[in-house]
Amino acid sequence: MSNKPENLTLITDDGLRLDGRRADEIRPMKIEIGVLSRADGSCYLEWGRNKILVGVFGPREAHPRRSQRADAAVIRYRYNMASFSVEDRARPGPSRRSIEISKVSREAFEPVIMAELFPKTAIDIFVEVLQADAGTRTAAINASSIALADAGIPMKGLITSCAFGKVDGQIVLDLNKEEDNYGEADFPVAMTQDGEITLIQMDGHLTPEEIKKGLELVKKGCKEILEIQQAVLRKKFETPVEEISEET
Ligand code: ADP
Repeated sequence: MSNKPENLTLITDDGLRLDGRRADEIRPMKIEIGVLSRADGSCYLEWGRNKILVGVFGPREAHPRRSQRADAAVIRYRYNMASFSVEDRARPGPSRRSIEISKVSREAFEPVIMAELFPKTAIDIFVEVLQADAGTRTAAINASSIALADAGIPMKGLITSCAFGKVDGQIVLDLNKEEDNYGEADFPVAMTQDGEITLIQMDGHLTPEEIKKGLELVKKGCKEILEIQQAVLRKKFETPVEEISEET
């Protein structure tokens, strides 16, 4: 979040944002499932100008052995930005930011992954951000949810994620890069299908009323994302009725 140039208007008098969206609209999302042949589950997701690739491996024996849990699988989440994913080259390797994002994203999934079914194993979620345009942690969580389902990892439900923010004094859904740069606040959220929040972060300043309004917008955004996720999974896993009757 940096100082906004004086002549830059992020929301017009007609309520339109720089990319033509209204305050309550998410960017267009495209999802491909099962794109990596060596991963147990995978997903490629585009959300606006964000491009994210996720590979899920496991449950497989956890190494090193001392990392194993006797009563459950350990869940590992690694968020990584490709050096070419941002305008100025991103420095390769882990950073404070990527370590923090990996931690909170793992925690966003822990309530739904049924890790107790797979003691001594590891479930690895590898996220590669190929192109970044704000909202990469939320995009990566949406993609990871699909990749986990593709890997057949038992989950109590999908996780969906979306941010709201404050731009030109208005509460808006799903910030793009310009809005993230010059906006007043960014508030990423992840939730279960039942609307239980599993990730919440805040950058900037918001009043309690603004947070309440933003969370309503996020709920709407997450519902739309869940429908996209479910449609992709249904397309891959639903067996047409004719095929079942032919087999029996
Ligand atoms: P998120 O991508 O989840 O919104 P941030 O708010 O930290 O996470 O980052 C916002 C955006 O800033 C990113 O999506 C990316 O476009 C840009 N960005 C993040 N880290 C870097 C970096 N090291 N170099 C250049 N741009 C970056």
